[in-house]
Amino acid sequence: MGWNRKVLRVNLTAGTCTEEALNMQWADEYLGSRGLATKYLVSEIDPRVDPLSPDNKMIMATGPLTGTMASTGGRYTVVTKGPLTGAIACSNSGGFFGAEMKFAGWDMVIFEGKSAKPVWLYIENDKAELRDASGLWGRSCWETEEKIKEQLQDPLVRISSIGVSGENQVLYSCIVNDLHRAAGRSGVGAVMGSKNLKAVAIRGTKGVSGIKDFGAFLKATNDAKKVLADNAVTGQGLPKYGTQVLMNVINEIGALPTRNHRDVQFEDASKISAEAMHEKRASDGKTHLVTNAACFGCTIACGRISEIDKTHFTVKNSPKYWGASGGLEYEAAWALGAANGVGDLEALQYANLICNEQGMDPISFGATVGAAMELYELGLLDDAKIGIAAPFGSAEALAKMVEMTALGEGFGKELGLGSKRLCEKYGRPELSMSVKGQEFPAYDSRGIQGMGLAYATSNRGACHLRGYTVASEVLGIPVKTDPLTTEGKPELVKAFQDATAVFDSAGICVFTSFAWTLADVQPQVAAACEGDWSMEKLNEVGERIWNMERMFNNAAGFTAKDDNLPPRLTQEPAKTGPAKGLVNGLAKMLPEYYQVRGWTPGGEPTAETRARLGL
Ligand code: SF4
Repeated sequence: MGWNRKVLRVNLTAGTCTEEALNMQWADEYLGSRGLATKYLVSEIDPRVDPLSPDNKMIMATGPLTGTMASTGGRYTVVTKGPLTGAIACSNSGGFFGAEMKFAGWDMVIFEGKSAKPVWLYIENDKAELRDASGLWGRSCWETEEKIKEQLQDPLVRISSIGVSGENQVLYSCIVNDLHRAAGRSGVGAVMGSKNLKAVAIRGTKGVSGIKDFGAFLKATNDAKKVLADNAVTGQGLPKYGTQVLMNVINEIGALPTRNHRDVQFEDASKISAEAMHEKRASDGKTHLVTNAACFGCTIACGRISEIDKTHFTVKNSPKYWGASGGLEYEAAWALGAANGVGDLEALQYANLICNEQGMDPISFGATVGAAMELYELGLLDDAKIGIAAPFGSAEALAKMVEMTALGEGFGKELGLGSKRLCEKYGRPELSMSVKGQEFPAYDSRGIQGMGLAYATSNRGACHLRGYTVASEVLGIPVKTDPLTTEGKPELVKAFQDATAVFDSAGICVFTSFAWTLADVQPQVAAACEGDWSMEKLNEVGERIWNMERMFNNAAGFTAKDDNLPPRLTQEPAKTGPAKGLVNGLAKMLPEYYQVRGWTPGGEPTAETRARLGL
């Protein structure tokens, strides 16, 4: 059946944990994870609710392929109304926590209300209970994992937690599991902190049962794994170089946002690239990269495990950071590096370690530092205000700012609000490189036109994981399109957005889509889940999920005006590279996109579209 058919509802106000049957009609219409959890959320909360109030809810959910032998089937999602954007938020994480939730017998956990004092949730198969977290509050994600494992005397328990950042409700706090995997974007960790929920620890020993047709599932998953192994990106590029392989590629095509998007190429890109992580350091003769790593069930293994230079100024007096740890991945390396003009790989790794340790999204944090550095260079912020000189390129300022933001000290409190609020406060709102309040990831939309539309229309604010047209526009997957033209991009963006909703909802990693199309996912879902899971149905499910998220945002107050880009991208031409002289053509693409989607010119699904999708 794919699903466990069981939901755990945790009322933090009352301190209760109750079991419910999964709504199987919704499972048939929304598949699982992102889609199904969002259906629950939009059915249970007022779209206008304050994201940090007890009336908001937060759902941790698995998909039908989570915990199975499907490659990358270890994903889980956190769905809530996001505090950074005020829009729907769905953050996805790998590691082992999601599979453990499935092994304990649950499809999802719904958190509602707010605990009067800090608590953590312990799930051991069918048993669930809230425990006192007063001894954990104020601790990092890493310490929290250690303390809970110690307390339970169980090294195999899987834990998701927030650090001090989430407790302080830094608006881009994430939820960290397995030490360096995170439900990273949109501030889901701040929602968890607002509920006084420090951690969720799960031990499941039931395994996964109830696959509809085990023989067909075995064949489908084996066939799909072979596709991943035979593909140059998923079989060779990602395991060897990780997502960091993109740094030089994106820089060469002039789409690497640099110094808060002032530039589109970074002169030090090679110093913070995947290739640099393989080079031996002069100081100790060691490479930065120690090994690659895989999440549960993953046959790609794109994860990076690295060791920082012990003599670097950031850690020379802090041995706790000397061990091998997660990172750097491409998005984090870009946001902490090129976005700020910082070309010091060790400083980036340090900032990334702090983000993992205290639970912050390195993309939004790094991009907010980029905005602060531009405000500093314009004289709107100064050394006294920040606590350090902060010109573009300062590794010292990056290191100082990550510490103060993670711990909520001094100017860090302002950085913790994100770039939109920071730039508004200092009178230059247009300098926030964000959509709907969420900061851009690592692709400049003057050099990759489709990404401008994907960012502007992303339901959770600027994001590469909602419609990754980079695959087509840069890498030629599944077909090559010209990154410098707007032609055909509305259809391309819609196709990527709908397909990604299915990948996320199935419980698999979207990186498989470098090699897989929906045609590779469909036999796996069809063999695992009861019901009819044809290609036609999966396409419809993806479109239904996208429109459901959009309708929530519309009801929360978002309109077509919010499908926009900062003027820097639509009015300031790229200065160098293949896109030199170009701005993003959003104004041309957006009306076409609304038409392709079956939306009104005001950006709302028409009655006909809603009826077609059963919304
Ligand atoms: S491809 Fe990378 S992020 Fe995705 S499941 Fe595998 S190791 Fe994790």
